[in-house]
Amino acid sequence: MNISLIIPFFNEEDQVDNTLDIVIPILESVTPFYEIIAVDDGSKDRTWFILSNRAQDNPNIHAIRFSRNFGKEAAICAGLDHVGGDLAILMDGDLQHPPQYIPQMVRLWEEGYDIVEGVKKSRGKEKPFYHFMATSFYKIFTKLSGVDMANASDFKLLDRKVIDAWKALDEKNTFFRGLAAWLGFKKTTIEFEVAPRTHGKSKWSLTGLWRLSVNAITSFSSVPLVFITWGGLLFFFLALIIGIITLVRFFSGTAVEGFTTVILLLLIIGGAIMMSLGLIGTYISKIYDEVKGRPRYLKMTELNPRPFDKLR
Ligand code: UDP
Ligand code: MG
Repeated sequence: MNISLIIPFFNEEDQVDNTLDIVIPILESVTPFYEIIAVDDGSKDRTWFILSNRAQDNPNIHAIRFSRNFGKEAAICAGLDHVGGDLAILMDGDLQHPPQYIPQMVRLWEEGYDIVEGVKKSRGKEKPFYHFMATSFYKIFTKLSGVDMANASDFKLLDRKVIDAWKALDEKNTFFRGLAAWLGFKKTTIEFEVAPRTHGKSKWSLTGLWRLSVNAITSFSSVPLVFITWGGLLFFFLALIIGIITLVRFFSGTAVEGFTTVILLLLIIGGAIMMSLGLIGTYISKIYDEVKGRPRYLKMTELNPRPFDKLR
C-alpha cells in the first residue's frame, strides 16, 4: 500500500516544520511507502526555504512550488495531479485537520471504502463574523445545489480510482468539497474535532472567501439565473399595474405629482438590471475561463518528483 499525503502551504513558515514532524511518524506507523506532496502555494515568507530543506533531507517529501498564489483549490488540484499512491489523503497544513485520524482513515479504506470524508464535529473556534458568513454560505449552497456540506471539510481520503475520475473532468473552476460529493463512489465519514491553529493565522482573506463562495455556488447551480427571470417577471407585473394606475390618473386629470414613483421605479428597476447583469457576467466569465483552458496552476520548482519510483 502506497499512501500519498497532500498538504497545501501558504505563508506557513511557522507551521511547516511542526506539521511535517507530527505527520511523518504517523505515516511511518502505517506504511514505509508514503509520499508527502507538499504544495507551496506561492508563499511570500520562508515557507519554501524550509520546505525545500526538508525535501532535501527526506526523499519522501515531494515539494512543489507555485509561481504565485493560485489558491487552496489549485494547490489541492496540483496535489491530486501528482499522486503516486494507491490512495491520497488531503490535509490542511496548519494541523486543524488532526493527523491522528490518518490510521483510522486508512483502515476504512482497507475495508473497501473509496472516499473517507472528515466531518467537522463542530466548526472549532472561529471569529463570530467568519462563523456567521460560513454558516450562511453553506445554508445557501445546500439550498441551491442540493448537496449538503455544512460540516464537510477538505480532510479526505480518496482512492486511486476516485482521483482518476476527478482528473478526467476537465473543469477549471472547481469547488473541491462539492465535487467530491458529486462524484459518488463508496463513501463513509469520520467525525473530527477541529483543532485550534497553533501558529500563524487563517490564510483566507475576505475577498478570497467571497471568490470561493461565488465560484462554489455558480459551479454547482444555475438557480441564480432562474431568479433573474422570476425577478424580471415580477417587475414587469408591477410595471403593468403602475402603468395602468398612471394612465387612469392621467385621463381623470389628477396626474403629475408622481415624481416619487418615477424615482422609485428607476432605482428599483435599475438596481435589478445591474444585479442581473452582474450575475450573468459571473457565469459568462466562468465560461470564458473554461474556454481559455488555462492551467489551474503553474509550477516554478519541484523537488523529489515521483518518490515512489525511488522506493521500489
Ligand atoms: N492555503 C493555501 N492557499 C491559500 C490559502 C490557504 O494553500 O491561498 C492553505 C493554508 O496554508 C492551509 C490550508 O490551505 O494549509 C487551510 O487554510 P487556513 O487554515 O488559512 O483556512 P481555515 O482553516 O481558516 O479555513
Ligand atoms: Mg486552518
